[in-house]
Amino acid sequence: MTTTSPPDRDAALALLRERIRDVPDHPRPGVVFKDITPLLADPLAFRVLADLLADECVRLGATTIVGIEARGFILGAAAAARARAGFVPARKAGKLPGPTLSRAYDLEYGRAVVELQTDALQIHDRVLVVDDVLATGGTSEAVLRLVRSTGATVAGLAVLLELSFLGGRERLGRALAGADLHSVVVV
Ligand code: AMP
Repeated sequence: MTTTSPPDRDAALALLRERIRDVPDHPRPGVVFKDITPLLADPLAFRVLADLLADECVRLGATTIVGIEARGFILGAAAAARARAGFVPARKAGKLPGPTLSRAYDLEYGRAVVELQTDALQIHDRVLVVDDVLATGGTSEAVLRLVRSTGATVAGLAVLLELSFLGGRERLGRALAGADLHSVVVV
């Protein structure tokens, strides 16, 4: 294992950008999939990203990170451990055991459902929601509303990559209700 010191902020962001791979026409023609597996496989890039997300968690005074299935689990859990926060998974329908709260949202083709366990969050929790990519904003919007329906406070949403041309930030305006939106990289 190499021991490389953390780069300064500009170098860190350049490294993260370099480690996100474009995969054209995945999972269907016309979509450019943003593949973060090269970033996760690079020890320095992964640590830098976990630190940036953990810093956001601490800055917002969040007690809990809610990670969105599936890549939000990887990033959110790493950041939560570094920030000494709890981690709660927001999962696709039917995956979580026990009573759940669910929320449906529209996809380009059809609908999807996201769920939280009913006892996963308490009224005194301050939550940072974490995902890898903010595209149209539908997924994050559903999770933000679900978190708020538990009585917990939404402190913010943090994503690795915002695809600004898809207008997710504008769509999320109401669901954020003044909470912070932090995108590490914006394209
Ligand atoms: P959206 O609801 O449109 O904001 O889509 C966000 C969710 O879909 C995130 O959980 C992402 O993991 C995934 N996603 C959407 N577009 C892409 C993309 N171009 N590359 C990778 N993941 C994407």
